[in-house]
Amino acid sequence: MIEVLRLGHRRARDARITTHVCLVARAFGADGVVVAEKDDALEKTVRDVVGRFGGPFTVRTGQAWKPYVKEWKKRGVVLHLTMYGEPLERVASTVRGRDALIVVGAEKVPGDLYELADHNVAVGNQPHSEVAAIAIALDRLTDGAWARRHFEGPVEIVPNPRGKTLINRTNPPGRPRGST
Ligand code: SAM
Repeated sequence: MIEVLRLGHRRARDARITTHVCLVARAFGADGVVVAEKDDALEKTVRDVVGRFGGPFTVRTGQAWKPYVKEWKKRGVVLHLTMYGEPLERVASTVRGRDALIVVGAEKVPGDLYELADHNVAVGNQPHSEVAAIAIALDRLTDGAWARRHFEGPVEIVPNPRGKTLINRTNPPGRPRGST
């Protein structure tokens, strides 16, 4: 079980990037995402994607981060992604296979998080993006298993070297299933 906790989401400014945090978490092997700030529209967007492309994947917003991190520490490992941390390669090999909460920020994260996290983990020591950091961290923590996962949603993309092939099982009865 791997969950992502997103801190510092500002609804007006970060709507798109937090949506990407959620979609990347889902696509790369997390079981759910929790956003500290309340955002009903974000929840709806993510649930719509899960409804069409499959799950299971949970999304919840409006969760106070500190008690959540403390609770998580009782049942798994808490990894805070930050460019100031220790190298991902070193940490991943010690925590792979354990339940993990991956915490990412937006601008500045609360200082206490550096103390509370079991590991402060850097995906390289250059500033980049929470979206990239989550993708690479999940890849390393799952040892690439995300690539073999089948989501079995009502809408499925069939790999196609050219053009788009989509199986759409949400079509109403009487209309042809599957479209290209
Ligand atoms: N000063 C921030 C930091 O501590 O990494 C960079 C802010 S960045 C806009 C937003 C989030 O992206 C950070 O809170 C962190 O979770 C993630 N992030 C950015 N660069 C990272 C890196 N090199 N390694 C791990 N996480 C990173």
